[in-house]
Amino acid sequence: MNTNEKGKLLVISGPSGAGKSTVIGRLMEMRDDVCFSVSVTTRPPRPGEVEGKDYFFVTPQHFQELADGGYLLENAEYVGNRYGTPRGYVEQRRLEGKSVILDIEVQGAGQIQKNCPDAVSVFILPPSGAELERRLRHRNTDSDEKIRERLLQAKRECAEAGKYGYIVVNDDPEAAAGQLDAILTAEKCRAADRLNLVTEVLIS
Ligand code: ADP
Ligand code: 5GP
Repeated sequence: MNTNEKGKLLVISGPSGAGKSTVIGRLMEMRDDVCFSVSVTTRPPRPGEVEGKDYFFVTPQHFQELADGGYLLENAEYVGNRYGTPRGYVEQRRLEGKSVILDIEVQGAGQIQKNCPDAVSVFILPPSGAELERRLRHRNTDSDEKIRERLLQAKRECAEAGKYGYIVVNDDPEAAAGQLDAILTAEKCRAADRLNLVTEVLIS
């Protein structure tokens, strides 16, 4: 049977520090049918971040050119920096049958939900506000002021969680990745996307 189906678009959002990167990393170890869309950003790299792996780091002018040229599937501003998803990569990999994971904030997720109604959206929640603050401080990548900004932003973002298809609480990263894995597997079995398989059985 030809199960060579188009890959899913898996949109993951959640406050900074909720553990999105950690959980996505684990999911990618668990499955070979997923890949990660590396975003373009005007934010400066954090220590240890690698160009082309974590982000493509660009100037504000270059970012604007990409947005104006239609090269971004969505884009948004977050805590003073711009972020966007390269369109070509996502479309190409989905055609190859890979599900593409986007780690994006809520405004961008809203654009995707409007423009790609078949996207699967998951909001990653931290177990509590106090634990979120502890993780941000422990990560040791942002100043006190940036952490305060991110915590304020976190409250605004969590208020949007109901707009997502699924909510996963990241208490334990292994369990959270297991839930993402289950969601993706279930979404790949949707009847509406598999009617071609029924036809194959009927004509064989
Ligand atoms: P995000 O991508 O959402 O900003 P990260 O994946 O960078 O978040 O995680 C923020 C910090 O919290 C990191 O130091 C990470 O190791 C830690 N972390 C992630 N998930 C958990 C968890 N379930 N329990 C404890 N610490 C976690
Ligand atoms: P950070 O600066 O912590 O890496 O990311 C800040 C926020 O930007 C996170 O919520 C992350 O999900 C979001 N983000 C990263 N890449 C993109 C993107 O391409 N588009 C949008 N809209 N948000 C993004």
